[in-house]
Amino acid sequence: DEVVGAVGLGKTYAEGGMRTPVFDGLDLSVLAGETVAILGASGAGKSTLLHLLGGLDTPTAGEVFVAGQRMGSLSDAERGRLRNRALGFVYQFHHLLPEFTALENVMLPVLLSGAGVPDASRRARSLLESVGLGHRLEHKPGELSGGERQRAAVARALVNRPACVLGDEPTGNLDEKTAATVFELMLELNRAERTSLVLVTHDRRLARRLDRVLELHEGKLREIAPATA
Ligand code: ADP
Ligand code: ADP
Repeated sequence: DEVVGAVGLGKTYAEGGMRTPVFDGLDLSVLAGETVAILGASGAGKSTLLHLLGGLDTPTAGEVFVAGQRMGSLSDAERGRLRNRALGFVYQFHHLLPEFTALENVMLPVLLSGAGVPDASRRARSLLESVGLGHRLEHKPGELSGGERQRAAVARALVNRPACVLGDEPTGNLDEKTAATVFELMLELNRAERTSLVLVTHDRRLARRLDRVLELHEGKLREIAPATA
């Protein structure tokens, strides 16, 4: 059961001097419940790959599949709906909306999927409780600690029960202890809900805990044994 896949994926940015591809001909298949780490030096193309997998950017070659659908064949509106339903995103910086409370931030993706306020509120509360923020529902991001903000961002990524969470350095901005807590939380949700995880990270210790470790290097994605990562 593939949840996210890429076939012959390539990206060359139009602007900028050399126009050499960031990568070309990448293949990737992420199965339901699988956890995958993506390592690579700064500038290797990790963010680009994640943006393409999430349908936030368009590949210049190849295809991305999400939940069995070819992203390139969808209209913008269809792609937006698929993204909101099937994928969750967690970034290095939380991207929570500053004017809204933690509860409202987590409710938003549920409301966007067409559910009503009572349903959205119930699901958002329950998830915020499960990430240990039951006592912070009415706090705005500015009133939360860095770790609390990132846990709220994880709750927001998971509230629509996505098939896969795409994380771009999701713990990169946290101290070691808080990073470990947020990471464990994502692993717990993977175990409980079979949510696949694709996490860009430079933390090899965390990467080793995932099922597969891939390294993006000179435009190629190579699989390395987690134990040796
Ligand atoms: P990483 O996430 O591994 O650090 P990125 O995917 O951010 O790498 O970047 C890969 C390469 O593509 C870098 O050389 C970067 O400068 C370039 N790049 C990224 N985004 C753009 C963009 N929007 N326009 C032009 N070049 C870009
Ligand atoms: P993040 O820290 O969220 O991974 P980046 O720092 O890689 O993001 O990039 C921030 C933004 O700048 C992104 O929209 C990315 O596409 C763009 N970008 C990155 N590198 C370049 C570049 N060389 N030229 C133009 N835009 C870039």
